Amino acid sequence: MLGILRNLVQEVNSARDLQEALEIIVSRVQNAMETEVCSVYLLDPSSNRYILMATEGLYREAVGKVSLGHSEGLIGLVGSREEPINLEDATSHPRYRYFPETGEERFRSFLGVPIIHHRRVLGVLVVQQRESSRCFDEGEEAFLVTVSAQLAGVIAHSEATGAISGLSLTGEEARDVSFSGVAGAPGVAIGQGVVVYPAADLDVVPEKQTEDIDQELQLFAGAVTAVREDIERVARRLASQLRPEEQALFEVYLRMLGDNALPAEVNNRIREGLWAQGALKQVVQQYVRHFEMMDDLYLRERAVDIRDLGRRLLSHLQEGDQQEQDYPDRTVLVSEELTPAMLGEVPREQLVGLVSVRGSGNSHVAILARAMGVPTVMGLVDIPVNQLDGKELIVDGFEGQIYATPSTDLRAFYQEICDEEDELVRGLEVLRDKPCETTDGHRVSLLVNTGLMTDVVRSLSHGAEGIGLYRTEVPFMIKDRFPSEQEQREYYREQLEAFAPNPVTMRTLDVGGDKALTYFPIQEENPFLGWRGIRVTLDHPEIFLVQVRAMLKASEGLNNLQIMLPMVSNISEVEESLHLIYRVYHEVREEGYDIHMPKVGVMVEVPAAVYQVRELADRVDFLSVGSNDLTQYLLAVDRNNPRVAQLYHSYHPAVLQALVRIAHDAHAVGKPVSICGELAGDPGGAVLLMAMGYDALSMNAASLPKVKSVLRSLSREWAAQLLEDVLLLDSPHVIKSCVDLSLRSAGFGRYLRPGRTSASVLLEQS
Ligand code: PEP
Ligand code: MG
Repeated sequence: MLGILRNLVQEVNSARDLQEALEIIVSRVQNAMETEVCSVYLLDPSSNRYILMATEGLYREAVGKVSLGHSEGLIGLVGSREEPINLEDATSHPRYRYFPETGEERFRSFLGVPIIHHRRVLGVLVVQQRESSRCFDEGEEAFLVTVSAQLAGVIAHSEATGAISGLSLTGEEARDVSFSGVAGAPGVAIGQGVVVYPAADLDVVPEKQTEDIDQELQLFAGAVTAVREDIERVARRLASQLRPEEQALFEVYLRMLGDNALPAEVNNRIREGLWAQGALKQVVQQYVRHFEMMDDLYLRERAVDIRDLGRRLLSHLQEGDQQEQDYPDRTVLVSEELTPAMLGEVPREQLVGLVSVRGSGNSHVAILARAMGVPTVMGLVDIPVNQLDGKELIVDGFEGQIYATPSTDLRAFYQEICDEEDELVRGLEVLRDKPCETTDGHRVSLLVNTGLMTDVVRSLSHGAEGIGLYRTEVPFMIKDRFPSEQEQREYYREQLEAFAPNPVTMRTLDVGGDKALTYFPIQEENPFLGWRGIRVTLDHPEIFLVQVRAMLKASEGLNNLQIMLPMVSNISEVEESLHLIYRVYHEVREEGYDIHMPKVGVMVEVPAAVYQVRELADRVDFLSVGSNDLTQYLLAVDRNNPRVAQLYHSYHPAVLQALVRIAHDAHAVGKPVSICGELAGDPGGAVLLMAMGYDALSMNAASLPKVKSVLRSLSREWAAQLLEDVLLLDSPHVIKSCVDLSLRSAGFGRYLRPGRTSASVLLEQS
């Protein structure tokens, strides 16, 4: 069965469109189960009806014509119960519905299983048999359930592809097609999709058309010659070290590159109008699928060689295709996995929105997007990214949704939200130089989180009182080697100077987890529980010492530096770090620099630290809570994984209890405590944190004016009452609603995300 399944999934994956995929499914399943009928019904979201999409055994003419209401017939029953229904005699079941156009009356036994993807019922897969004596057995039921579970993702993906091209399941025109992901950075953007993809990765190459066929042919010919030469060179170099049968492998490669082999097929596709990279992708994928389906293990493994060859050709093609990318004026950057470097490539004034298939609201790229104020949707797992290139898109970063091919009404609706947001931000400018003080005189410092120099500029114009978190890994991430001490000193000086005499808190290098340096790869099964933050730098004192030295030298004459240690889970890590910091401090002073010993703080971002707040605080000058990591570790929810994004909740009672305890324990030993996770930039979160007694809230620059406006308009007493109320609740969702409701009734509704997309209301109305 496993072999059948593997082949089936591969075949379906290679189908050109949804229809072909469904036809393959019904035909292969009918064959494998030796049954008379196999059909698939999909639930059409626009009509909310199950439509017969493909069949083997029923009359083909019924395809696309027969449909059932959402809870009609046995199909509707399978869908609404969300479990298989296995009947020996379907015709005697009270829910049986007979459609003469299908020829169904001949069949009695019925087995239907739902096709469910991420809790959404996409359709129903059915097998039927004529003899009443045949009841599908348990093994067959299990097989059909497995097929359906494996194919649900592929079906969702092909369905989305059709929808983006403006087609509904029934082939009618579809507008305002929406896809749900996870909110990454708030705001709304209307612009044109530009798909970017990592180099030399065939899977993500878009299938664009070309205007200049000759140039593409020439580019490809150049890539073939270059790869041939590479292989011949390697073969010559290794000739004396390899046995003849191993040498023969290179021959295989060179044969595949022969004029009549792979290049001929690629050239054909280019002549049909595809650009060289897309043509190469198609041909390589076709070869790979062909080899992967072979029963012979040796031949199956040749798929690896083809893929490797494809990658080499692509890499040469990409070198030869160096034309500068032309970004539209309103670019919505779309990628399988957005990286900070990709953001940097688009001129800031042209970048209006971001869309990423991978990652979640607390991925670092989302944090960066929030800092830059670019509306972002992450975790759009089922979206066929390549199809979004050149399409008009609306990015709803409040709700985590995007819309393709929007109608005039929808565009106008979102344009209004954009205009309101601009107006709100402009209205808040007057608060820039006002203190963040509640109506009953309680003062909280509002600080910013930075990484890039552009953040600093924005922060100053938003009235930040200092930097609560400078993520030093950001300048490390945009280089292709460790920055030198001098380079680091320059980066750090910029940040320190911009805010002097206000404090600038620099976190020592926090790589590992989801933050990778290309030149210092860390491969681990469980990166978030692995070699991260302080664990890496204590194992590499040469990196830590250079960084601290650069920070201290940069602070000369300003003396507003504070140093913060990430991912601390043991007291010994703090002691070792302090030892190194003191050592550097004395050495730098001996070199003649006139510097002060900076304040040193610890981040509380793992549960172990929550229970040792007093011991930690005794050893350092301040604490700062990293609520992004603390939430992920307390709730055991990967902050990057869109599948569990709905479980990642900073308003979870356990998180709130931990936050209360941290503030209490830090103050009990007389140390200040701030928070620099994203919760601080959420108006509701900020109110609760202020009530808990946090001395400073550090957030992205874009959130600061809204938070200041809310905190200045209410009393600490009011906030304390709200906190007391929500601490009695046991559900994150109820807590969130309670906070939102209180803020709305206090007149702060406009600072919250617009109510659950009013766009969906609009769509329902139309
Ligand atoms: C955090 O974990 O809350 C934090 C501020 O650090 P980062 O998001 O950079 O991991
Ligand atoms: Mg962290």
